[in-house]
Amino acid sequence: MLVEKVVAPPLDNNAYLIVDETSKQAAVVDPALGGQQLLAKADELGAKVVLILNTHGHVDATADDGSIRTATGAKIAIFELDGARLEKNARDTRWFLPAPPPPVKADVQLKEGSELKLGDLVIRTLHTPGHTEGSACFYVESAGALFTGDTLYAGSCGRTDVFGGSPAKMIFSLRRIKELPPETHVYPGHGPETDLGDETWIRDLTYPIV
Ligand SMILES: [Zn+2]
Repeated sequence: MLVEKVVAPPLDNNAYLIVDETSKQAAVVDPALGGQQLLAKADELGAKVVLILNTHGHVDATADDGSIRTATGAKIAIFELDGARLEKNARDTRWFLPAPPPPVKADVQLKEGSELKLGDLVIRTLHTPGHTEGSACFYVESAGALFTGDTLYAGSCGRTDVFGGSPAKMIFSLRRIKELPPETHVYPGHGPETDLGDETWIRDLTYPIV
């Protein structure tokens, strides 16, 4: 598995291109506004983008879903609880976007444990609510790779004070992620990459009193 990263507008989002080197099939994870750069990288590598994976439905992360699908015919996948956000985003004006993105509807509604194939790679869906109700991480066990979106960053986690957020669920989700092998490499939605074994702070988290 090959992973290419683009730090893309609108909010310095990490957008990833995952390539299965045998089949040359590729997936985009959280494209943000990095669509053109991601597609250029796929071209350079001779890869075809067949999947657009969204770790959650926030508009900064999903802004180029529609344009990439139009350009490639790739299927858009998102955890089912966040699916409605994709359609709602098209009606929202945000200070950080030049214009609302075109309306998109997910082609694939993911559930806990849903597996997507990218050539020989198997990408498993882990439901990790807390940042949004339907936040998910994508786990490629064979490559020891975890795409965490706005759930886990190096040294911290995504906001929980946003609509659909929950501090208690976030702690539950982070502890669940921490059960994966410590050598698992983490590709977060913002900031630097990390290894799960280095995120020792997670075990000290306590549940908020609500
Ligand atoms: Zn977010």
